Amino acid sequence: MTDDLPLAGRGVVVTGGSRGIGAAVVRLALAQGADVVFGYHSGEERARALADELRAAHPGRRCTPLYAHVADTAEAQRFAAAALDRLDRLDVLVNNAGITRDTLFARMGPQQWHEVIGTNLDSMYTVTKPLLMPLVKQRSGAIINIASSSGLHGIPGQTAYSAAKAGVIGFTKALAKEIGARGVTVNAVAPGLIETDMTAEIPEDKAEFLKSLIPSQTFGTPEDVAHLVCFLASDRARYITGQAIEIAGGLVV
Ligand code: NDP
Repeated sequence: MTDDLPLAGRGVVVTGGSRGIGAAVVRLALAQGADVVFGYHSGEERARALADELRAAHPGRRCTPLYAHVADTAEAQRFAAAALDRLDRLDVLVNNAGITRDTLFARMGPQQWHEVIGTNLDSMYTVTKPLLMPLVKQRSGAIINIASSSGLHGIPGQTAYSAAKAGVIGFTKALAKEIGARGVTVNAVAPGLIETDMTAEIPEDKAEFLKSLIPSQTFGTPEDVAHLVCFLASDRARYITGQAIEIAGGLVV
């Protein structure tokens, strides 16, 4: 590890890396010296363009986009196997893929509930399971799970999402205790409101109200979150595990 390249030589897997926070993590991990495999779901063209751009910017570094449907056990297993195949070594897993289907619980249909739980929470099992043993056998590594302020505090209109993200935090804390002795850290990052396609869906008046709950009155950027994720992936964070770290600009909900 050097100061400039804290992830030099590391193999990193990121789910949902085709845009938003995941794409910022992919960019920064490459810039910090890592080889990266990242998943996309519906955005194949965008993922391929991102990988082409980053390979050109970092010659000799590997940056591979792969299809992944993280809510599906078999698809996630295929993704994990292909990711291991593309990397010389696995050091970091960033479980980032996620969706919202906001609606009041009284109006929520079973499909909305299951989609949200499947993509945000079941994915902790489907993706982490096949990638855990290589980390444990190697006796080093970091797993970073993207949770949310919604999972820490509960947000109205997000019962399924709050439940899923609270589940991500519980999973993180338990797994950290199970594998801490094997030299693998497990942490959750809980963003507040970050400027991505996900928050672009929020109606203008609601977005203004939410900004009023943030001391700086602004949403964060995907890069803000990526810096925290890459720090947790580096040796500098080797003594941090089992934590849910909120990155929300002081948002009070
Ligand atoms: P975006 O909507 O911008 O991107 C979502 C990413 O997840 C895309 O890369 C998408 O791939 C991928 N994805 C969606 N469904 C699936 C699936 N079934 N299987 C695999 N990949 C899938 O989201 P953000 O970048 O905003 O969010 C990233 C993470 O951060 C999520 O876990 C989210 O819950 C969390 N978060 C975001 C906050 C925010 O304010 N933005 C706040 C708190 C948490 P594709 O485009 O190829 O379909």
